[in-house]
Amino acid sequence: MKWTRAFPNTEPEPRVIHPKKAMTVFDEMLAHNEKYAQRFDLGHLQTPPVRKLVILTCMDSRMDLEQLLGLRVGDAHMIRNAGGLATDDAVRSLILSTHLLGTRSIAIIQHTECGLMSITDEEFRWRLSTSTGKDASHMQFHAFRDLDRNVRQQVARVKHDPFLPKQIEVRGFVYDVKRGSLREVKSE
Ligand code: ZN
Repeated sequence: MKWTRAFPNTEPEPRVIHPKKAMTVFDEMLAHNEKYAQRFDLGHLQTPPVRKLVILTCMDSRMDLEQLLGLRVGDAHMIRNAGGLATDDAVRSLILSTHLLGTRSIAIIQHTECGLMSITDEEFRWRLSTSTGKDASHMQFHAFRDLDRNVRQQVARVKHDPFLPKQIEVRGFVYDVKRGSLREVKSE
């Protein structure tokens, strides 16, 4: 509106009342941590997990792993990704967990209502290409339909990895997000 330069507004600027800036989730995190650090008493924990356990599981926000498995901080490694899948990077972490930090049991925990069961790779690639304008045809998301079958596949992949120690026990589980219950998926 260029005319305002020729006819500057001589009225006083309306007073802008700045509402108190809303706290972001980051601010809330920092504020909480300040209190947490004041009563922190876990500084004695060592790097290797106490229970020699490593858990590969989904990033789903509904799984409070320590609570639902009866673990304490320091007991287990937690490797989380979308789906709880034995991807190359998850296996990298498992190799470090077992060889470097002494874990001896691997639990693979997937869950009901996983987001990866609600899409197909093809459909999600299309959605991603459409929203970003970039070619997503090479992307892999590992969507799946059959939960138990998917758990078995991850267990098999971990069991057969040439770099993971053979004496390590690998077992698969499904967590029910509606019931809070965990059941084992036996290998076929
Ligand atoms: Zn999930």
